[in-house]
Amino acid sequence: MLAQPPWLVVYVSLIVASYLWVTVWQVAVTGFRLWDVLTCVALALCCAVCVEASRRLGIPAGIARDLLSAWWLPAALLLPPVYALLMPVPLQVLLQYRVRRALLYRRVLVTAALGLAGAAASAVFHRVVPEPLAAGPRWVVEDQRAILAAVGCAVLFIVLNLLIVAVAARGSSPQVRWRDVLWTRESFELDVVELCLGVLITICCVISPALLLLTLPPVVLLQRSLMHQQLQAAARTDAKTGLLNAGAWQREAETELSRSERSHEPLAVLLIDIDYFKRVNDTYGHLTGDQVLVAVAATLCHQLRDYDVIGRFGGEEFAVLLPGADTVEACRVAERLRARVRRLAVPADDNTVSVTISVGVALYRTHGEDLIELLASADLALYRAKESGRDRVCLPAVRKSG
Ligand code: GH3
Ligand code: MG
Ligand code: MG
Repeated sequence: MLAQPPWLVVYVSLIVASYLWVTVWQVAVTGFRLWDVLTCVALALCCAVCVEASRRLGIPAGIARDLLSAWWLPAALLLPPVYALLMPVPLQVLLQYRVRRALLYRRVLVTAALGLAGAAASAVFHRVVPEPLAAGPRWVVEDQRAILAAVGCAVLFIVLNLLIVAVAARGSSPQVRWRDVLWTRESFELDVVELCLGVLITICCVISPALLLLTLPPVVLLQRSLMHQQLQAAARTDAKTGLLNAGAWQREAETELSRSERSHEPLAVLLIDIDYFKRVNDTYGHLTGDQVLVAVAATLCHQLRDYDVIGRFGGEEFAVLLPGADTVEACRVAERLRARVRRLAVPADDNTVSVTISVGVALYRTHGEDLIELLASADLALYRAKESGRDRVCLPAVRKSG
């Protein structure tokens, strides 16, 4: 946990200590029954099969989501809390050593979060249905309240788990907004899918654990297609900033340019370069430099409309395409970006780091007839901005006639 804020170290320690304390307490008070143990092992094996099946896709860093909660949830709902506390341990070890090495404290925190969230869901659900597994499938068929309670406890599990991890994620990346950590549309959709799968597998498991064999193939397939989607997204994205990478930006820009050609709408390109960025690295170190890059990227992103296209073009250089923007609008947006970046203060050591940007603006048809020409013009404009003192917005010096 090097270079993390002290409160984050305390927070993670508290969560892990609570997890250990609750686990020891539950191990001491639970009477382990063979059928419960076998059910837990069966669910853990299904989860392990999912992990192994998606491992072969080759998961790069940055792939964040999986559907494994579909297996944690039945264990939490059907078995006493101790199983929800213990089950994540072997599976997180498997993920750590077979799939991807995460920072150890993150892996431990994820294990503790899953365990605590599962134990809470289990404790609440067992108050509504005291022996969900031993009572057999009757409660599923006859007691609508119990199904509602299962859904409610699944929501509790997902929300608690998310909250515990999100506080730490925000703590280690303060430049990321709460909203992005807690709620994005894709992650919400995935949570809903996980919840539905988890409750359905729970019901199958109550009817007969042998039905797990029928639930496994569709979950594996879903998990693999989710990984595939994320791999495709990762191939388009710059891992450091989360923006489009240069190749993906150019492809999207070409599409926008064709659209603009058909619709005769204006379109502008901005090339943005951080001023004296080498000094930031030299003074505060490369890691702080990276944080500044991420903060600048986030600031630029938040200032743009959904349909503007922003990418990281090179080291500390960004490209923005503004569909529908004429000269006045493009310069107005560029000025706003410049002013916002100027106000950034990224924490470093006992200090804060501020940077400025220079922006070159080029207009479709006025400064170039295709993307290559537009980028060359924007680059010239950027050079002018640098030459005339930096921290400013410039258009190319010579306009093409016609
Ligand atoms: P100018 O105002 O002329 O743009 O000066 P500059 O120092 O920003 O430009 P220069 O091209 O001399 O230096 C760019 C620096 O950006 C050098 C390089 O080490 C740094 N850089 C490039 N990519 C990254 C990165 O991913 N992380 C960090 N921390 N630094 C990077
Ligand atoms: Mg620079
Ligand atoms: Mg540069």
